Amino acid sequence: MNRQSTEIAVVGAGVVGLAMALAAGRRGRRVTVFEREATAIGASVRNFGLVLPLSQPPGPLHDRALRSREIWLELAQAAGLHHSAEGLLVLARHADELRVLEEYLEQTDGSQHGRRLLTPFEATRLSAAARPEGLLAALYSPTEMVIDPREAIRSLPRHLHDRHGVEVRHSTLVREANAGRLETTAGSWTAEEVIICSGADFQTLYPEQFARSGLQRVKLQMLRTVSQPAGWKLGPALCAGLSLTHYPAFRGCPGLAELRARLERELPFHVANGIHLLATQTGAGQITIGDSHHYGHTVDPFDSEAVNTAMLDYFAAFARLPRPEIQERWHGVYAKHPEQVDVLLEPEPGVTVVGGLGGAGMTFAFGLAEELARARGW
Ligand SMILES: Cc1cc2nc3c(=O)[nH]c(=O)nc-3n(C[C@H](O)[C@H](O)[C@H](O)COP(=O)(O)OP(=O)(O)OC[C@H]3O[C@@H](n4cnc5c(N)ncnc54)[C@H](O)[C@@H]3O)c2cc1C
Repeated sequence: MNRQSTEIAVVGAGVVGLAMALAAGRRGRRVTVFEREATAIGASVRNFGLVLPLSQPPGPLHDRALRSREIWLELAQAAGLHHSAEGLLVLARHADELRVLEEYLEQTDGSQHGRRLLTPFEATRLSAAARPEGLLAALYSPTEMVIDPREAIRSLPRHLHDRHGVEVRHSTLVREANAGRLETTAGSWTAEEVIICSGADFQTLYPEQFARSGLQRVKLQMLRTVSQPAGWKLGPALCAGLSLTHYPAFRGCPGLAELRARLERELPFHVANGIHLLATQTGAGQITIGDSHHYGHTVDPFDSEAVNTAMLDYFAAFARLPRPEIQERWHGVYAKHPEQVDVLLEPEPGVTVVGGLGGAGMTFAFGLAEELARARGW
């Protein structure tokens, strides 16, 4: 078979692969993306679509998240993607949660990004879903945005093609990558650079390097309601106390230990199953609710209904919906390093593996891709 050629070959058309393709395409490089499925069905279509700078402490990672947000906004406008830039509300229903939010604002000068504490009255005016009962206050952060991940990952390949000449070859497995050479189910290719963004697949390409990388797989259970009545809007994305123990932004708050200890006492099942609760709304009006976290090399294929019930119970304690009926349940899997925010491997010259973005791939991918393309001349 004839050898085909490209300048930059990207393996995987999840958000990380598409972000690398966009960054290189914007720099005028000839890019070809190979995706083994007819449309990407990995972590990138199974998430909340939440771009969450608030989750990061101030500094380079927060800046990277803000830059990703800017790029998402540009893409959403240019490609006509559903998006909502209404921020996030963190609801405090216990004194220890409020204390952590106050400490966070004090330590980070959150007001610089428009983050502030709202009274229960202000919070429930902003969010039709937030329950007023027991609400003490809420942190409002305007920097968060939501896109519809299924729509975005399906639509972006065409946009990248039309605007930047990026060719996305779906239904094409890359079964071998060597420096400058790819063997695919659609023939052999040559490339100046190969960027592997294979998500939680550690076995097809460079399995030995993945095995040594320290990356783990994380399984997350998710739920989605039916569409809410026409015109009913969630407003800002929602979360509550459990999320404060999950995101690195709150790690420096002195009150966190006390909050964690109470949650371990009062909600041991939630804590043991890594449950923290986020809710976002899709373009079709459904509410996406999740998630749990189970770590390991081999992902349990069976979902736990006890975990789903625990997530819905916790959600119902702080939020209410006109139509809470569940329409879909699924799980997603991402790759994560226990200490690092991402993992870059260079198994040989001209080949880079970009992975391990964990629960922040939607938040980081575009900013990271721009940084890498600039630094490495992609
Ligand atoms: C339930 C859940 C909720 C989340 N919520 C959020 C959120 O709200 N905000 C946020 O920022 N992040 C969130 N994340 C994290 C985010 O979804 C991931 O970090 C991100 O999607 C990872 O993108 P990826 O491109 O690396 O992986 P994937 O999306 O899994 O894509 C990898 C792609 O590579 C393809 N592939 C693999 N090997 C080959 C090969 N050899 N040849 C060809 N193709 C190949 C696969 O088919 C796949 O399409 C969430 C994740 C999950 C699972």
